[in-house]
Amino acid sequence: LPRLFVQDTLAQGLSITVEGSYLGAVLRLGPGDQVKLFDDRTGEWLAEIVEVGKRRAILTVTHKLRDREPVPDLWLLFAPIKRGRIDWMIEKATEMGVARLMPVTTRRTIVDKLNMERLEAHVVEAAEQCERTALPELAPLQPLEAALKGWPENRALYFADERGGVAFAPSPGPAAILIGPEGGFTDEEGAAIRAHPAARAVSLGPRILRADTAAIAAIAVWMAAAGD
Ligand code: SAM
Repeated sequence: LPRLFVQDTLAQGLSITVEGSYLGAVLRLGPGDQVKLFDDRTGEWLAEIVEVGKRRAILTVTHKLRDREPVPDLWLLFAPIKRGRIDWMIEKATEMGVARLMPVTTRRTIVDKLNMERLEAHVVEAAEQCERTALPELAPLQPLEAALKGWPENRALYFADERGGVAFAPSPGPAAILIGPEGGFTDEEGAAIRAHPAARAVSLGPRILRADTAAIAAIAVWMAAAGD
């Protein structure tokens, strides 16, 4: 069944209006057809199409299918990279269950502003496709220093460092993964990150991975070892 994220808080019997062209023109659905809806708050519901037109479709929520699932407590801090690759990275991190996406600017970050609407659309689309009932939070772009200020004591900060670091063997518990930009971190940055009490420099192997590859590799290791 098609699956859509809706902003409304879902409840039994509720009438929902959504954009019509996808259900109508693309999927060629009509009255009586069923759709799965989720709202990132109550969970996932079954709904039935009442009417569908070019611009909008009206659905009635019939019943709840499942509650909003708990999300593995993993954040991804990443220096924005080139447009196509950041979209891919956001989509894959969402599919893999990340709870929060935190773009951070570093000395060698080449991108200094992000189209948040575009990135948010990729997050929603990936969540719809992978059947998440909880959306990852997409934080606004901020300097790395600001993101690390007031860092939660109990959250391990795994700093992916291709120039050193221990083999990445995460322990369970709240965590974050930090990935650098195409040009990597400067020496000063690396030293400052390592000096952070929550930071652990970790290696993802002897090869230099692209930032997007490193992000997905690190998330996979964490999910396998510590995810739930
Ligand atoms: N210094 C790299 C170089 O010489 O090409 C550039 C940085 S790399 C393209 C982008 C980011 O991916 C790095 O900042 C690091 O966070 C991560 N990364 C890449 N390979 C890694 C590895 N083998 N171990 C840990 N992190 C890695």
